[in-house]
Amino acid sequence: MLILVMNAGSSSLKFNLVDMEAEKTLADGIAERIGMSEGFIRWTIQGEKGRLELDMANHKKALKAIMDQLKQTVLTGDQDVAAVGHRVAHGGPNFGDPEVVTPAVLQEIEELAFYAPLHNPPAASGIRTAQELFPGVPQVAVFDTAFHHSMPEYAYTYGLPFELCQKLGLRRYGFHGTSHKYVAERTAGLIGKPIGASRIITCHLGNGSSITAVHNGRSVDTSMGLTPLEGVVMGTRCGSLDPGVLTTIMEQEKLDGPALSGLLNKKSGLLGISGVSSDCREIEAAMATNKRARLAHEVLCYGVLKYVGGYAAAMNGVDAITFTAGIGENSPDLRSWVCQRLAYLGVELDEEANTTRSKADRLISTPGSRIPVAVIPTNEELMIARETKRLTEQTN
Ligand code: ADP
Repeated sequence: MLILVMNAGSSSLKFNLVDMEAEKTLADGIAERIGMSEGFIRWTIQGEKGRLELDMANHKKALKAIMDQLKQTVLTGDQDVAAVGHRVAHGGPNFGDPEVVTPAVLQEIEELAFYAPLHNPPAASGIRTAQELFPGVPQVAVFDTAFHHSMPEYAYTYGLPFELCQKLGLRRYGFHGTSHKYVAERTAGLIGKPIGASRIITCHLGNGSSITAVHNGRSVDTSMGLTPLEGVVMGTRCGSLDPGVLTTIMEQEKLDGPALSGLLNKKSGLLGISGVSSDCREIEAAMATNKRARLAHEVLCYGVLKYVGGYAAAMNGVDAITFTAGIGENSPDLRSWVCQRLAYLGVELDEEANTTRSKADRLISTPGSRIPVAVIPTNEELMIARETKRLTEQTN
């Protein structure tokens, strides 16, 4: 059974073709600069890298070009895509599970653009495109927010007028749910505990970052909120702020909503603090000589530390701490900074394991560490493919 996983952004389309027999990725890649000049598609198909320069007017052109490549390589003979799984950022208050796409589901995804104007419209457009190109093939939407539906009311409620929150659907929704669920389950396996009887803090740290408290396999709190702006500082996003900062900036700098949103989403975070880069690798390279780069890194590390401490309290203890995504998987500096300051919890990092490069699930704490610390490479695409297979088989 072959499943195509799609992640459509406003000008990009990421894809993965997964063979579900062996849960193996046969092909993956990205079409970039859709709707612009100088478009291109990059891919790895059965280990071979390729690239095509191609201007693509829309997602449909991009997906057609991707399918042409797949048909010339892996999709030979009578092999067909059995189902398509879509990553959808915001599932709003109603989608607590993945859904087979029906006209009503698609309409609701489009309406949820209210919460995620940058993310949901391209996801909906990706779904329509796939429906056109694969008529009769089941489409499944997997929501980034769904895993966090289990949060208790006291964890997702904002301190605003209750009626206003109800009217506008203002609450913490959380994101990266597919990743948090995947790495929490892998961590439980790694430490030999049932996921249903474990307290795991998962730190997904990439361009976007969020931290989640996973209690008995369910999300009980997470650092992102109504939108993916809340929480720790990110590449270009500000993370949590005193809301008074916002009114001050708006008044003093005469900014309207869209201008403020641009500032908070695109010009803040590691980039804003350092003035160097939004990319953690470049920040770390500049740290030795650039004070603001070091400050940006410390602000991120300190943010992670505070969430870990807070979530250990929220779960009345913690059985494992896990790092994942671009920074979490690849930055020994950040992991070391955070873990050294968790000694009070009994965390003891194995510095050699921490600095050893590996693509495998692994522990980076000493055997004597009271709380194991893990690095688990995330695999959101595999999780989306699994959910797509499960729902497709259920409805057949
Ligand atoms: P996204 O949220 O877009 O999926 P990723 O999970 O790919 O992002 O994470 C990208 C981040 O990971 C960037 O800040 C990048 O600098 C960081 N990163 C990747 N490799 C390293 C490394 N070796 N050391 C430190 N940071 C790294």
